Amino acid sequence: MKIRLFKPSIGKEEIFEIKKVFKDSWLGYGHKVKLFEKKWSNFIGTKYSVGVNSCTAALHISLAVNNFKKNKKVLVPAITFSATAAVVLYCGLTPVFVDINKDTLVMDFNDLKKKYTKDCVAVIPVHLGGRPCEMEKIVPWAKKKRMVVIEDCAETAGGIYKGKKLGTWGDYGCFSFEEKKIMSTGDGGMVSTNNREKYLKLKSISFHGWNKDPWERHKSSLNKKSKMHWAYFIDKIGYKYNMNDLAASIGLAQLKKIKFLNDSRNRIIKKYIDGTKNLKNIDTKFNFRLTNASYWLFIIKCSKRDKLIKYLKQNGISSAVHFKPLPLQPLYKNYKSKITNAKKEWVKIISLPLFPDLKISEVNFIIKILKKFDKNFNKY
Ligand SMILES: *Cc1c(COP(=O)(O)O)cnc(C)c1O
Repeated sequence: MKIRLFKPSIGKEEIFEIKKVFKDSWLGYGHKVKLFEKKWSNFIGTKYSVGVNSCTAALHISLAVNNFKKNKKVLVPAITFSATAAVVLYCGLTPVFVDINKDTLVMDFNDLKKKYTKDCVAVIPVHLGGRPCEMEKIVPWAKKKRMVVIEDCAETAGGIYKGKKLGTWGDYGCFSFEEKKIMSTGDGGMVSTNNREKYLKLKSISFHGWNKDPWERHKSSLNKKSKMHWAYFIDKIGYKYNMNDLAASIGLAQLKKIKFLNDSRNRIIKKYIDGTKNLKNIDTKFNFRLTNASYWLFIIKCSKRDKLIKYLKQNGISSAVHFKPLPLQPLYKNYKSKITNAKKEWVKIISLPLFPDLKISEVNFIIKILKKFDKNFNKY
């Protein structure tokens, strides 16, 4: 048996949408991107969304659009995917690493307040593995400090926290459609916001800083009434970050299934928890709230982490660690920060296979292997 860690759930619905794009013979930025942006805004509950080619791009332009002065500081959690902090460096800003809460593994609010200094201009809460940050505390606090809040929702899509969708609490919500994430377009991302002025800028800098997108230009090039349809102006630096119609068409099909994608993961998590609740040496419980949730990772803790990973591998079960604290990476050695919990917890965490089409028989097999390891724990 070989069990993957992640797998996109794709099928004939996606093929059907892709075929339409082929029939139109329009693969680049076009009406499918616009339609997907509109449907995404409806789904998340913001006024505007901009389709991009990754969540990294979404995070980058959400920071860049604010034109912060160089060397200002941005608060990011110590445990996150590397792009959360890399975009801070892209903008010539300084990341300040905030410790995690040991129970939830997300940014700790008390430590966030401790790490704040007057030159902090933004905070990027990351809903790690779909576990919500304490947005009801972070947002009002950040607003008082006049900081911008960028929610990194790469690991959640459609999760509701305290009655409000994740991605709508902050000024910007950034989502990922990378192949492993909640829903996938191969690669892709989205930034959602309610701020019209910022939306127009985000749209522009995601496409070379132009004031017109390629689909608008195409349409006006065939409109007899429009003069100078080819003209555009550039007043700021932009990037080549736009989404294309091929990706958007897959996104449209995936968005229709998103309830299924989230419910399936929740069902599997419940199965894992029920099957492992009596284990003594592996902690699989920690605080899942499975209604209206959008979890991406099933993380467990074990003091013999690396031995367990090896044992899983021997049994054909893929696993991984999400994530080693970024300040422990050589790139960030000059951004030292006190991150006691992150250092203590990360050596214990393992992510187990979790994807919508994971079979119950496979989950049962993984549970059986965990039980075996737990029973013979002293031998390892
Ligand atoms: C995956 C991920 C990203 C980057 O998403 P891409 O679409 O691959 O650029 C950013 N932040 C977090 C927390 C992620 O997990």
